[in-house]
Amino acid sequence: MEPFDIVIAGGGPVGSVLAHALAPLAGRGTGKGLSVLQVRAGSTAADRPIALSHGSRLILERLGLWQGLPATPIHHIHVSQRGGFGRTVITAADHGIDALGHVVSYRELVERTATGHLPAIAMREDRLLDWKPSPDGIEARLASQSVRTRLLVIADGGRPGHGSEESPGARIKDYRQSAVVCEVDTEPSHGNRAWERFTPDGPVALLPYRNRYALVWTSPPANAERLMGMYDAAFITSLQHTFGDRAGKFRAVGPRSAFPLSLRVQDQKAHAGIVTIGNASQTLHPVAGQGLNLGLRDAWELAEACTRALDDRPEDLGSAAFSRAFASRRRLDRELIVRLTDGLIGAFSLRLPMSSTVRGAALAFLDTVPPARRFLSRRMMFGARALP
Ligand SMILES: Cc1cc2nc3c(=O)[nH]c(=O)nc-3n(C[C@H](O)[C@H](O)[C@H](O)COP(=O)(O)OP(=O)(O)OC[C@H]3O[C@@H](n4cnc5c(N)ncnc54)[C@H](O)[C@@H]3O)c2cc1C
Repeated sequence: MEPFDIVIAGGGPVGSVLAHALAPLAGRGTGKGLSVLQVRAGSTAADRPIALSHGSRLILERLGLWQGLPATPIHHIHVSQRGGFGRTVITAADHGIDALGHVVSYRELVERTATGHLPAIAMREDRLLDWKPSPDGIEARLASQSVRTRLLVIADGGRPGHGSEESPGARIKDYRQSAVVCEVDTEPSHGNRAWERFTPDGPVALLPYRNRYALVWTSPPANAERLMGMYDAAFITSLQHTFGDRAGKFRAVGPRSAFPLSLRVQDQKAHAGIVTIGNASQTLHPVAGQGLNLGLRDAWELAEACTRALDDRPEDLGSAAFSRAFASRRRLDRELIVRLTDGLIGAFSLRLPMSSTVRGAALAFLDTVPPARRFLSRRMMFGARALP
């Protein structure tokens, strides 16, 4: 069995960003540095717009992956609720930065972060089938062969039945919502403004994307199915009715795709030789666009942990202590973002008599108390460990 120090299973943005961050430590075939293999199964996932936070942009910039990636800046985010008062606007100027985040195409990001050209990383089109502990690490069974590794990083997007199985203590919640995603034209055009409008059926987000908006409309599956089947004119009328006039008049709509939504948080029981990152570790509701941003921080911090291990105690890589330390380092950020996104969905779907008033008061509070707004938006941009 071919031996590697690290095997990364998954060729999505999280697995690939990790490979780029490890590249300086790797030296394939030279006998020096780490030997790293990335295993990538072809993806059939539909393209979707992804809002990358300012923090994610900094990660991509440090790895030389930002330049050349088509990205539409977000200058303002307007948050409101349907059928209730209160709203708040977060601006890039609040933070002294040029953009709160950028909207990119998932597919273009995957292409931009692909590692085929990196000489330090061995990349194979293959699929992780399963793994088991072996006397000197982990035996990873791929579709074409088995390999041996000290550390197996599962970054396969977390679809059970593939490489990552549900861990026994996993938290799983079916939101009973689907996201309908498409591009829409408005008049006037977006002006680099994003909108998050909470409705009792689920949040509706508009993200500035090239010269149009990308729409992420969440609602119960039966309604999502209805929206998918509508003629364009009826869809636009329904969107205008749900969203109101804030973003202008909806004029035209592009092809639609639908994504079922659930929360899956794997129990990070530290297992020697195994680390799980990105959606394989936690799959979130897309509200507030946090899933990939959290996954990129997983990847970045894992590369840092590998660097530290290599500098201080190379024999630690792949040990139970290594997996434990990594899980513990990521816990705060992960829990905060899981609770934040899940809490937003819970709070804005409550239909109790006073709930709309309480939500409106919370939005008004954020709007009138800039430090509170800044505190929250910095966590959205940089994660739990952001400075105040
Ligand atoms: C509608 C929608 C909108 C979203 N919007 C945002 C947003 O605005 N901002 C944000 O931060 N996040 C957003 N997300 C979440 C974001 O898409 C995910 O968090 C992100 O794609 C996770 O990246 P990943 O690399 O972990 O997994 P994936 O992107 O799922 O990639 C996993 C890769 O691994 C491959 N693979 C699968 N099984 C195996 C195997 N056994 N062996 C080897 N390879 C395998 C797959 O083919 C795939 O290429 C959104 C999600 C949805 C559904």
